Amino acid sequence: MNSAQRKDYLAALGLESWTLRRAVAPPALCDWEQLRARVAACTRCALSQTRTQTVFGTGSRQAQWLIVGEAPGADEDRLGEPFVGRAGQLLNSMLRAIGLAREQVYIANVLKCRPPGNRDPAASECAACLPYLERQIELLNPRIMLAVGRIAAQNLLHVDAPLARLRQQEHRFGKSRVPLVVTYHPAYLLRTPSDKRKAWEDLKLAREVCARVER
Ligand code: URA
Repeated sequence: MNSAQRKDYLAALGLESWTLRRAVAPPALCDWEQLRARVAACTRCALSQTRTQTVFGTGSRQAQWLIVGEAPGADEDRLGEPFVGRAGQLLNSMLRAIGLAREQVYIANVLKCRPPGNRDPAASECAACLPYLERQIELLNPRIMLAVGRIAAQNLLHVDAPLARLRQQEHRFGKSRVPLVVTYHPAYLLRTPSDKRKAWEDLKLAREVCARVER
């Protein structure tokens, strides 16, 4: 008897048929590959209906530096990799200025899916997606995190202070107390190049913190 026939017989007897679903590990228990698969299949918020693909993160899993942005834009949604558009090129230059190649760091976003029209992420979308980033941070165990832009900084630090008040300080992230420095988002710097000097100060601070911390 095949499973369709069994279902028919059970239905004729007025019995509900049950299928055993494979248990899915919560993000906090996933390894890298399980986590990537969970993100790719995620339907936790409505952005899953409008994305082309999820944007998990890229870089070395041995990286000491974790760069966290806001959410994929149009280019990232198309290519499946964070920071590949114009803002990404500026981010690469910012990293090079402190002696880091893009391949040496890990880059991820708060949101793994593109908000349509590049609108700001909703608080509910960030809350739904954050467990993925939190697990990435745990698995990577970076020496330093650089939050680029207000959305990344506020979500990682669970504060609503403006970015200007969060930069130029050494913060700590979560229970693991990973050092975290905040700077401007490269997309903002493309619009406001006069603030690049301040971003340079933030990058130097992050480099100093990274050299100082023992992890
Ligand atoms: N802006 C972000 O915050 N992240 C990206 O991946 C691209 C642009």
